Amino acid sequence: MIGTADHPIVRRDPLPRPGLALIGDAAMVGDPVPAVGCGWAFRSAEWLADATAAALRDGASDAALQRALRGYRRAHRFAERHDRLDRDEARAQPPNPVQRAIRTAAVHDPWVARRVYRFAMRAAPVTELLNPAVVARSAWVARRAPAPPAPRPAPARSDVAPG
Ligand SMILES: Cc1cc2nc3c(=O)[nH]c(=O)nc-3n(C[C@H](O)[C@H](O)[C@H](O)COP(=O)(O)OP(=O)(O)OC[C@H]3O[C@@H](n4cnc5c(N)ncnc54)[C@H](O)[C@@H]3O)c2cc1C
Repeated sequence: MIGTADHPIVRRDPLPRPGLALIGDAAMVGDPVPAVGCGWAFRSAEWLADATAAALRDGASDAALQRALRGYRRAHRFAERHDRLDRDEARAQPPNPVQRAIRTAAVHDPWVARRVYRFAMRAAPVTELLNPAVVARSAWVARRAPAPPAPRPAPARSDVAPG
């Protein structure tokens, strides 16, 4: 086991200089806890290939290749928008009222639950979950949700079976 007290979260311009494109952790190192780094690495490689394959195959001019690379940068913003929220989550602060409402609503409302699932899978853009319609519906559902059961008290020492 390797421990670390400070795992830096780094984001770089995916096109730091002409003719150079960064993918995976080279472009963006996130919090390892949500376990999404390998997905971003594969997806950013795919975005780069999709954006530039035709230009490279056809021997496009430098200007055309730069245009193609800018397409990669646009595609990479999908990951950066998720990463912005992941950085807040990495601070392990208590959820804010919007997060609390959405998480509560997701337990009771399949429409919200599906958006939370797609967001958590990084299958949908951030805006599919964080938009006024979802926030308003979540607040409405959460307000009507039954209170969660009170936490059970820890067993008294004499109740613990001898190990
Ligand atoms: C503790 C921890 C747990 C994680 N858990 C998960 C998880 O459960 N799920 C998940 O999806 N992600 C997880 N991640 C993130 C994930 O490991 C990374 O996001 C992912 O490996 C990035 O892939 P990459 O190919 O961009 O970079 P890397 O996997 O770092 O690959 C880069 C490679 O380049 C090599 N290299 C470096 N310099 C040179 C050089 N000069 N010449 C030749 N080769 C070189 C390195 O040796 C390395 O093999 C975790 C990360 C950490 C730190």
